[in-house]
Amino acid sequence: MYGKIKDDLQRELVSIREAGLFKEERFILTPQAADIRVEYPEGSPPAEVVNFCANNYLGLSSHPKVIEAAHEALNTHGYGMSSVRFICGTQDIHRQLEQKISEFFHTDGTILYAACFDANGGLFEPLFTKEDAIITDALNHASIIDGIRLCKASRYIYKTNDMADLEAKLKEAQGARYRIVATDGAFSMDGTVAQLDKIVALAEKYDALTMVDDAHCTGVIGKTGRGSTEYCGVLGQVDIITSTLGKALGGASGGYTTGRKEIIEMLRQRSRPYLFSNTVSSIVVKASIAVIDMLTATTELRDKVEANTKRFRKGMTAAGFDIKPGDHPIVPIMLYNAKLSQDIARDLYGEGIYVIGFYYPVVGRGLARIRVQLSAGHEFKHIDKAIAAFTKIGKKYDILGKTKEEIIAKYGE
Ligand SMILES: *Cc1c(COP(=O)(O)O)cnc(C)c1O
Repeated sequence: MYGKIKDDLQRELVSIREAGLFKEERFILTPQAADIRVEYPEGSPPAEVVNFCANNYLGLSSHPKVIEAAHEALNTHGYGMSSVRFICGTQDIHRQLEQKISEFFHTDGTILYAACFDANGGLFEPLFTKEDAIITDALNHASIIDGIRLCKASRYIYKTNDMADLEAKLKEAQGARYRIVATDGAFSMDGTVAQLDKIVALAEKYDALTMVDDAHCTGVIGKTGRGSTEYCGVLGQVDIITSTLGKALGGASGGYTTGRKEIIEMLRQRSRPYLFSNTVSSIVVKASIAVIDMLTATTELRDKVEANTKRFRKGMTAAGFDIKPGDHPIVPIMLYNAKLSQDIARDLYGEGIYVIGFYYPVVGRGLARIRVQLSAGHEFKHIDKAIAAFTKIGKKYDILGKTKEEIIAKYGE
């Protein structure tokens, strides 16, 4: 009987709309790339825009080699496996991809999942019980939070990136049987990279394991694109890394956990999203093998996204924007006011620059921003077009060269 809940849901949906929090989807009419055609709002004539809001960091979503490998997979390995891995769902290429990921990251072993969300969802419960402690960064991704919820271990939340608070929580958790520190490799709204060198040192001092979710870093940062562990000089020293095949590594879907031998073996025995969910498609697997081979052969793409990031950060700083400093291709342009972030994003769209404005509750109150994401799929002409459009719109709203206080004085928080 679809009765009372229907009325309640309708009311709730109206209140989401009234609060301005209703998520509208924008229709992309082309493959994912730097230059795309977008229909937004629904029913309006399509616009040609440069995409600065995808996680397509290496430009591989529509790369010819990736597409070719995906086509080939259909011919050699079929479409689907119609089984979970341990019943009759593992092909040679699944094992090959797991081995290649382990070699790439200098780890003992790797286990594939349908998504990084599943890798995180199925990580903690098989390893930890109520005798144990999980020490987690306050800004960690929803999938880490959910994974921890599914497990009976005690949870300690430390202030984001705050090593003194992490140390305090590690001390509090000394009575537990096992301790594990869990963090995002980079925080996706800020582009801030976790201080893994310090986290690994603290974990050593207080006898804790370490876990990093490197979804926004894999293939992207570090001298050879190995991610946050390489960037922080602790490659091979983090016990567990989870990540996605759905961002830099081709962008279709899929995820994995890579790390210590016994941990990966136990996950294969006990991790519920692995045991009770279908095998990753052969298409994704073979395309991902091609991606790892490309990234092993050359750092060209990772170097290109780095050069694009430097050019954009330098140009935007010179133009007088308030950007969060760093090296990551996630570049937050701070605007502080929610409406201002929406107005500027809309005007930029009119200039052919596709970016998204974020505000509370996605980011902290009074910390509204536009998040720009650079890609190796961009050419310098795209970057320069974006800087010119931002400058034009920035002038219109009179925010260039203005401090946080001045912007807030003019527009409010
Ligand atoms: C995107 C993301 C995920 C989810 O990855 P999927 O493979 O799309 O499920 C998990 N963790 C972090 C930190 C992410 O940014």
